[in-house]
Amino acid sequence: MEKILTRNWGKESSHTLEVYLRDGGYEALRKALREFEPRALIDEIKKSNLRGRGGAGFPMGQKMSFVPRGTGKPVYLCVNADESEPGTFKDRYILERDPHMMIEGALIACYAIGAQQVYVYIRGEFRQQARILDGAIREAYQGGFLGRNILGNGFDLDMYWHTGAGAYICGEETGLLESLEGKKAWPRLRPPFPAVAGLYNFPTLIHNVETLACLPHIVARGGEWFAKLGVEKNGGTKIYGLSGHVREPGLYELPMGIKLRELIYQHGGGIRGGRQLKGVIPGGASCPILRAEEIDVEMDFDALQKIGSMFGTGCPVVMDETTCMVEAAYSVAKFFAHESCGQCTPCREGAEWIRKIMHRILNAQGRPDDVDHMLDLCDNIQGKTICALGDAAAMAARGFLRKFRDEFEFHVRHGRCELS
Ligand code: SF4
Repeated sequence: MEKILTRNWGKESSHTLEVYLRDGGYEALRKALREFEPRALIDEIKKSNLRGRGGAGFPMGQKMSFVPRGTGKPVYLCVNADESEPGTFKDRYILERDPHMMIEGALIACYAIGAQQVYVYIRGEFRQQARILDGAIREAYQGGFLGRNILGNGFDLDMYWHTGAGAYICGEETGLLESLEGKKAWPRLRPPFPAVAGLYNFPTLIHNVETLACLPHIVARGGEWFAKLGVEKNGGTKIYGLSGHVREPGLYELPMGIKLRELIYQHGGGIRGGRQLKGVIPGGASCPILRAEEIDVEMDFDALQKIGSMFGTGCPVVMDETTCMVEAAYSVAKFFAHESCGQCTPCREGAEWIRKIMHRILNAQGRPDDVDHMLDLCDNIQGKTICALGDAAAMAARGFLRKFRDEFEFHVRHGRCELS
């Protein structure tokens, strides 16, 4: 299959403008500025069926069309480069290996929505990526791709980057905005949505690194071409990050909609040590776990939702038969309880309560009604909080409890794991 997003990876100095230009870099921007009115550009992006690669999967073109135009207010683009979802590790490699692809995508998005400034919010731990991005932004200014009168088309744009301080909630889009404004990253109540009242209360489009990196290809080869790379309503290719108990963990660029089985067994080399598969979290810790018999599902937003899970970031975590699912669930529960920002009671108290119950089960102190108690807690968190972290904590825990209930009950009855 033709590599699109990762086509430059592996080339020497792939992060530089020189290498990017050699293969037609910034030609899509030139085409966008010359051949498309902003609204027509958004229509072209709609045709591509590109859906946000940060986890929510919202159609990009549609999101762009929500940004009001001609209000006289500043319009911003924020690039979410926080990538803090456990198991997810693809955006950092785009920034490291081909930052100009994201920059060009951001330029195209800004032209389409009429934005004058871009803020790249990058995870604090990504020091190397921030340094590389900084160099790429400087090169883009020097090359006339950022700044005033870009490519002689009267289009002005400035790009800044800003590092976070390492909290998961900074990757939630409104938490990101608060953090960027210099405040504690407490997510905001919606509506209003950021497209209308975002950064400094002005219209703001927020998109993930991988999503933006798709735009140059959509402009260069057309929305329909991009849509056909994937499946219905899920256009394009995807950088899948495969981790856990597979022989060959790593990043694989493949079409949207490939089977999870194919990703694990054909591309990831199967389960390490010749063991049996037990479960897979399909797209980051927030996504409900699947059992081994469910991996014939297509990797796309709709197919995974249909079977009660989520596509998320498209980065599956694979677990083999030696995995204690109570321990795995505890590890996820501990993460969400720790990362809850504490604003809403169901998330703050509920996530910690689930963590505590799982902890006592693991320590041979489980009670007969613990599983039902946790399921009840999940029902009282989901849909009752300001942001999706509460939902994620509930959905992840419920997934483990429902799919591996027998293991939890064994722990409660015998005070140990059936594998020990
Ligand atoms: Fe904070 Fe959790 Fe409420 Fe989100 S759901 S705002 S993380 S307390």
